[in-house]
This record gives sequence, C-alpha cells and structure tokens, in this order.
Amino acid sequence: CGIVAYIGDDKAGPILFDTLKRLEYRGYDSAGVAVISQGSVEVLKSSGRIVDLEKTYKSMGSPGEGMGIGHTRWATHGRPSDINAHPHTSGEIAIVHNGIIENYLDLRELLTEMGYEFQSETDSEVLAHLIHFYYKGDLCAATLKALEKVEGSYAIAVMAASSPYIVCARYESPLVIGKGSSSVFVASDVPALLPYTKDIIRLKDGNIARIYADRIEVMDCSGAPLESEVERITWDT
Ligand code: GLU
Repeated sequence: CGIVAYIGDDKAGPILFDTLKRLEYRGYDSAGVAVISQGSVEVLKSSGRIVDLEKTYKSMGSPGEGMGIGHTRWATHGRPSDINAHPHTSGEIAIVHNGIIENYLDLRELLTEMGYEFQSETDSEVLAHLIHFYYKGDLCAATLKALEKVEGSYAIAVMAASSPYIVCARYESPLVIGKGSSSVFVASDVPALLPYTKDIIRLKDGNIARIYADRIEVMDCSGAPLESEVERITWDT
C-alpha cells in the first residue's frame, strides 16, 4: 500500500500516477487519486490496476491542476472494491490513509448520529468526516483535532477545495516529503520521489506538515512549529 501527494506548478494527475506506480511493489488491491479541478475535488478510484485507472484518467482529458493526492490500498477493513478504494471524501475534503484506525466503530457511530452518511465499509472514512466536522477554514487545525480522537496507525494526506495547502501526517506508517524548486512531493518511501527531487524530509512519528508549493511547515502533534531537516540523498535507484 502507499500514499502520494503533489502540489506545484505542474499538473498533479500524471505525477501522482507515476509515483503510485513506483510504490506498486509494496502491494495493493485498489488505487485512486483526487485532484483539484476548477475549484472542486475530483476523485477517480477503483479496485484493480493503476495502469487501468490511469487510462481512464487520460480518457477523461487528464483533469485537474497543480494539487492532488493518491493512494494504493491494501484492504484491512472492508473488502477490495471501487467504493472502499481511497480517496474518501466529506464535502470538499478528500483524504488518503494507510494504516488502521482502531477505534473507527465508535467514531463511525458518533459521526452517524451527527448526520454524516458513510459511503464505504473502511475504517479510513471516519477521518474524512471528522476532519470535515472540525474544518472552519484551517485544514491543519482541523486535521490536528481529528487526529486527537483517533487511535491506531496512519500515514495520511488531506486536501480541501478551499485550502491552499495539503496536510500530511504520520504515526507508525511511513511517509516522506520531497522538496522541488517550486513543487513538493509526498510518498511512502524515498525511491518513489528520486526522479523528481533528492531533497527529502523524513516526517517523524506523530508529526504533521502543512505543504505549499514553495514551503513545508512541520509541526508536532500540538501544532507547535518544528525545524525540519532536509536530507540530500546521494544514492541512486
Ligand atoms: N485500513 C485502510 C483500509 O482498509 C487503509 C489500508 C491501507 O493501508 O492501504 O482501507
């Protein structure tokens, strides 16, 4: 399984598919991407192979601009299916998640009582609705609040149509950030990013990052800013 994200000057879709293919070796049963296209979130996802999804994306005219997230799923909760594939959405929020939300049944019950309608059988979908519930214009603050309620492991990437940045966070699941000249890349491992950049930030367990095309702001789980160490990768794949 894997997660990817891109924000920058180029069209996100083709870069997301390329980096997802570089994570294929990790194994998956479904794949999906979400891009921002003309001010709204557009999701394309299905069980099966990345190349087939990429063909569908191209046949749609390769929608979207310079911001998107992507996922390969190794199902843990909910069978492999188009609907259970990530990204999951709640209003204008889209998320991808690797890992397991252990307390998802309690959260699902709570969110259902609050009026949220669940589309999938996954543990991950609670994250989309929780972040939506807390979102009042500050996606990073909303994600931090949602993560406070969550027990389990996660690598996530989150975006919203009205937010200028992508949020990513991790706890006991891998996630690295790559810094380009006017773009930033996210993936589950370093080799997937090396065709694009050799400047890598290894996000530490429990930390969260706000990602713009021209800067990366790393914070701890209370939202306090941290110095981020950029590591120059000198090996090749
Ligand atoms: N637990 C999530 C699911 O089953 C994410 C699985 C993964 O890490 O790909 O949808």
